[in-house]
Amino acid sequence: MNDRPALQQLTEDVWAYVQPDGGWMINNMGLIARPDGLTSVDVTSTERRTRDYLDAIEATVGGRVQRLVLTHAHPDHCNGASLLPEAEIIAHRSVAEELRAPHAVAPQIFTPFDQGSAEHRLPTIVFDESVTIAPGDRPIEVQHPGTIAHTSGDAYVWLPAERVLFTGDLVFNGGTPFALSGSLRGWLRALDRLAALDPVTVVPGHGPVGGPELLEPVRVYLSFVLEAAADADTRGLGPLEAARGLDLGPFAEWPERERIVGNLHRALAELRGTTVDMPTAWQDMYEYNGRAPLDCHA
Ligand SMILES: [Zn+2]
Repeated sequence: MNDRPALQQLTEDVWAYVQPDGGWMINNMGLIARPDGLTSVDVTSTERRTRDYLDAIEATVGGRVQRLVLTHAHPDHCNGASLLPEAEIIAHRSVAEELRAPHAVAPQIFTPFDQGSAEHRLPTIVFDESVTIAPGDRPIEVQHPGTIAHTSGDAYVWLPAERVLFTGDLVFNGGTPFALSGSLRGWLRALDRLAALDPVTVVPGHGPVGGPELLEPVRVYLSFVLEAAADADTRGLGPLEAARGLDLGPFAEWPERERIVGNLHRALAELRGTTVDMPTAWQDMYEYNGRAPLDCHA
């Protein structure tokens, strides 16, 4: 894979825009051309990165982005929406709620990055279960997985004619999955639903494009976190303490491994029926990272 973000053609009129290295705030986008215009799956974290994406569309595909589907409310996937001021924005109802009241992350948690003028816009069309764009013989299906998973308002985009699946952050490829704002058990159910679609091409929220084999490592990692949380619960450990004593095994090689702390915050809260204190969860990831800002290359 090239180390520059690039549009990768998947079928005659479907592309993925893949941004290496897929780390914090460096997500992928999708682009689907239909006779009535272009649909973008997500935008990205900064003005510069979103402008590069729009320039790549102009140079390679041409035409206007008529619609933007937001796969969830995280800022990397939503920030650039202000650079598409005319586009319809389609998202799950929860995305609208979360974008109205985002949880703030203290600025010192990440290495600094320049967001430029990019900022999110609120959805113009919301759905609860699913919505089909461009119905006909090549529909674009936008579906909620029926459960809280990576977040409460996840959407994946499924092209049944092409068997292409844009997962948003329901799949990370190569980086550590992040469940702090979701549900680990729900996420496992969501993966079952994605597998049942029987996709040929899977575009993850972060990392290189692949096939259905991308789902399994996410499942294995989430199951590992659930087991670690059950063990920590038995021993009466908190998330940071549990993470520090945990051998990540093969997952130690994955980038953003500090996400284990946020993931344990969520998994333990689910086990204990408590809520997560988000500022503490972020601060604990910072502590786990050697009291150093999390590495963000956005
Ligand atoms: Zn996300």
